[in-house]
Amino acid sequence: MIQRNLFSNEGSVYMGSQSEINDCTIGIFGVDYDGTTSYKSGTRFGPSAIRNVSQSLETYCPHLDKDLSNIKYIDFGSLIIDSNNTESIVSKVKYATEFLIKNNLKPLILGGEHSITTGVVSALVKKYPNLILIQLDAHADLRDSYMNNKHSHACTMQRCIDNLPQKKIFQIGIRSGTREEFQRMRDNNQLIDIKKGDINIILEQALNEYKKYPIYLTIDLDWFDPSLVSGTGTPEPGGFMWEDFEIIIKTLNKFKLVGADIVELSPDIDSSGISSIVAAKVTRSLIMNLDSNKINELI
Ligand code: MN
Ligand code: MN
Repeated sequence: MIQRNLFSNEGSVYMGSQSEINDCTIGIFGVDYDGTTSYKSGTRFGPSAIRNVSQSLETYCPHLDKDLSNIKYIDFGSLIIDSNNTESIVSKVKYATEFLIKNNLKPLILGGEHSITTGVVSALVKKYPNLILIQLDAHADLRDSYMNNKHSHACTMQRCIDNLPQKKIFQIGIRSGTREEFQRMRDNNQLIDIKKGDINIILEQALNEYKKYPIYLTIDLDWFDPSLVSGTGTPEPGGFMWEDFEIIIKTLNKFKLVGADIVELSPDIDSSGISSIVAAKVTRSLIMNLDSNKINELI
């Protein structure tokens, strides 16, 4: 059986996960990898922290008015990693995502470091050539190469864009990067500054013509302010709070999400455990959002 060779599910699973693929709409797997982390490592413990904490969450979300108990999803466990070579891990993530897509499951990936997103996107773009990306992150991640590694987490969005026929990405609330990265984000009109007014209005205006496009959402937890999420390898002051995320996720409910990931949780850095709780709640929101975005009328 293919999934036995790909995933190890010895630990816990995300709360409410089904044990069989039948009738599921969403497939979850973790990537316990932090090989290119540039400052503090530890994101390889992210997926298990999210799963452990999830057991203490409510299944009902009053903000989205949805309940996990009405949604069928399966957490396969974490990808079996047998190498420390980023490129081969990214291609294994791609292979595992293809397995999900073949089983009609929308992929939801738990990181691990941000470099893994490239693998998910390159699998999804084969099914959805018009795929566009939305990134929540403190960092642009648009470097062509970082520390001699083109697959570093500092390059992941550039590697994704390389794979996208549309070359279309929206980067929400980025506040750290090189002058060149910021110049490119501005030149290509891809940086969405949500501090300029009402987040939902700004977002809807920016994304207006993409209502029927398949969208992949990648969430780097350092997008949040370090006062809320300190458990991440590269924290950046001046970030966002939970209420901001709630507005974004509700607005994105009007768009057609075909996959998502949440990356860069480094649970041991935050002894309070709050970062893991935020990550587990983000995961809950993503499951609800992926489930309610029925894939019809796609361009
Ligand atoms: Mn980041
Ligand atoms: Mn990132």
